[in-house]
Amino acid sequence: MSEVKTEEKVVTTKKYRKPSKKKVCAFCVAGEKYIDYKDIAKIRKYITERGKILPRRQTGVCAFHQREITNAVKRARNMALLPYVGD
Ligand SMILES: [Zn+2]
Repeated sequence: MSEVKTEEKVVTTKKYRKPSKKKVCAFCVAGEKYIDYKDIAKIRKYITERGKILPRRQTGVCAFHQREITNAVKRARNMALLPYVGD
């Protein structure tokens, strides 16, 4: 009996997982092709407060710009503009 119940739960939780708005890449909208690593204010929106780069599903950025962000963050870290591990 309990096994059947857990199976039902899985199905119902799956049903709840759809109402998502379609996010549009902010950089594509702004028409920015490249992201400057010196523009920390912009980059900071795409990293956590601990310095980790946010995943694309959270930021809604397209693949091209996600890559640009990743490169910008890594460059900024190397230039000591951003921490490798922050707090
Ligand atoms: Zn984009």
